Amino acid sequence: MYVKSLTLKGFKSFASATNLRLEPGITCIVGPNGSGKSNVVDALAWVMGEQGAKTLRGGKMEDVIFAGTAGRPPLGRAEVSLTIDNTDGALPIDYTEVTITRTMFRNGGSEYSINGTPSRLLDIQELLSDSGIGREMHVIVGQGQLDAVLRATPEERRGFIEEAAGVLKHRKRKEKALRK
Ligand code: ATP
Ligand code: MG
Repeated sequence: MYVKSLTLKGFKSFASATNLRLEPGITCIVGPNGSGKSNVVDALAWVMGEQGAKTLRGGKMEDVIFAGTAGRPPLGRAEVSLTIDNTDGALPIDYTEVTITRTMFRNGGSEYSINGTPSRLLDIQELLSDSGIGREMHVIVGQGQLDAVLRATPEERRGFIEEAAGVLKHRKRKEKALRK
């Protein structure tokens, strides 16, 4: 399983549709300050369902939509698509290629789809939670976040490990079932 491509349209500084094709292995993004490197990482977290505006380095969720520049008016929607190569079947879905798309309009909530089928956030989370790309996004370690990992309580650390091992999903389901 690896990320094959990421397409940003109206997401933060990426006003025009921008497609990044990735190969297996390590990818480095280089560029001058303010050129949008971190915005690419934000897009990755966002399309996988990130709900925290602060995690995305904004004040409110709609800050992810292109806000306009001197020569270009703001846009009304942001859309990010993530295509994952699933030939090894790491994702529990019968497709060798999986495209997750998240769209957000300035006046409202988010829409998600998996290979073109409208889906819920929960569907995205369940699809990804077995892959090691969990909902709490510990796979994306931002600047300054290492500190937080080092200062985590034993319970929080256990959470990281459970997420990585893929048992978090089952624990959450169990907690939900017990509440009923
Ligand atoms: P550094 O090397 O300093 O970390 P970077 O390449 O990571 O820089 P980013 O933080 O990804 O840079 O990009 C910052 C740029 O994105 C800023 O110029 C900011 O104005 C722009 N930007 C962020 N959100 C939006 C938005 N909603 N609309 C338009 N531009 C945006
Ligand atoms: Mg940056």
